[in-house]
Amino acid sequence: MTNFMDLGIRAEINAVLKANGLTEPTPVQKQSIPILLKGKDFIAQAQTGTGKTLSFVLPILEKIDATMPQVQALIIAPTRELALQITSECRKYAAYQSKLKVLAIYGGQDVDKQMKQLGGGAHIVIATPGRLLDHLRRETIQLYKVRMLVLDEADQMLHMGFLGDVEAIMEQTSPKRQTMLFSATMPHQIRSLAQRYMKSPTDIQIRQAAA
Ligand code: ADP
Ligand code: MG
Repeated sequence: MTNFMDLGIRAEINAVLKANGLTEPTPVQKQSIPILLKGKDFIAQAQTGTGKTLSFVLPILEKIDATMPQVQALIIAPTRELALQITSECRKYAAYQSKLKVLAIYGGQDVDKQMKQLGGGAHIVIATPGRLLDHLRRETIQLYKVRMLVLDEADQMLHMGFLGDVEAIMEQTSPKRQTMLFSATMPHQIRSLAQRYMKSPTDIQIRQAAA
């Protein structure tokens, strides 16, 4: 049996996974984590419920540098619910790292409050596209130090009409970033986005659901 430490995840995070009853990585996690730890661009197509969230959250936590003040990891998600869910997963597994700041930015919440929170600094930002663009226009967030960019549930973002916003956001990050794309389905618009913004990505497809 493969465990999370075999994939390159540190003991402190593994202990929290264990405490939450997660002992064996799902197929998508087994394939994603080692490649993402190497810094490669990555596309994963896998059904809902296969464990895609931890596939990118764990490598991001491994690679983040909490001694640098800037936003280094940006996760773009289609809905407030999903953004909050990812935020809570990040915080749960980042607990060993007391200096790490994880912040959710989404529509429907008070902009001034978010501006204050951003002023306090964040290493990992999980955002919905519209509100993030709003902050970029106000210059209340800077993305030039983002080294890891995730597009989560990319097909949902397409169906909700967010791809234009997503592209505008990607244009404001460094071309040196690692880009990761997760989606349940892979419509041609998503493939084309990946071709334009990713560097020879490893591309995996998983059919099996999590146990
Ligand atoms: P997806 O994004 O692919 O729809 P999620 O990342 O939301 O899936 O995970 C679906 C469920 O599976 C969550 O409840 C999560 O806690 C659980 N899960 C994730 N990884 C594992 C694992 N390795 N072992 C058991 N359950 C897991
Ligand atoms: Mg998901």
